[in-house]
Amino acid sequence: MSKRRTISVTCPKCKEKQPFVMWESINTALDPEMKSAVKDQSAFLFTCPTCGTQNYIDYGFLYHQMEDQIMIHYANSDEDEKEIYQFLYEDSDKMIQELLKANYLIRIVRSQNELREKIFIFDEGLDDRIIEVYKLLVFVSIHDDHPEWNDMKILFSAADGKRTFVVFVEGNLMGSVDYSDTIYNTLCEKHLTKLPDLRNDIPFIEVRRAMEIMGFEK
Ligand SMILES: [Zn+2]
Repeated sequence: MSKRRTISVTCPKCKEKQPFVMWESINTALDPEMKSAVKDQSAFLFTCPTCGTQNYIDYGFLYHQMEDQIMIHYANSDEDEKEIYQFLYEDSDKMIQELLKANYLIRIVRSQNELREKIFIFDEGLDDRIIEVYKLLVFVSIHDDHPEWNDMKILFSAADGKRTFVVFVEGNLMGSVDYSDTIYNTLCEKHLTKLPDLRNDIPFIEVRRAMEIMGFEK
């Protein structure tokens, strides 16, 4: 089921308190319109009814794409991440066993953008571990050209149906890098045989996992 509650948000401009619907969990089988609302971020957009000011509200929640047995937990703090991990893997071992028996794909991410990236990857039928390895290669090639760019972040996107890597530096959009099926397939051939099934891997698939896969030290 989906779970939502209405909270009170203070408008950053006119300072009036306004109601805002916050989702604790989203089940896209029950609320199919929420899938596109998460992907285009409209689910998190607050619009002040008094002055029209808009801003995004950032909060952690569970994204459950039940029709594809995909669960992505967005943890927006270290404590939240620890709690979710413990709940899934430690507190009740039955929980994770049941989910894995049902062939669930489970991920824990640390930002709304990473959550959206995972949805794009899985919607495109791709393997997020291979995409992370691919991103590492893109990162290295950009870093070679722009060693002065600090805090660079690369995200896979398939908005408007076009697969691409979007590059951010210190939170600012810098541009995009073309995605190539040939490179993706080559990376699959190189790495997939030594990896467990996509649905049986650890829930944290990001740069550290990519480095492990490529054989670098943790
Ligand atoms: Zn306002």
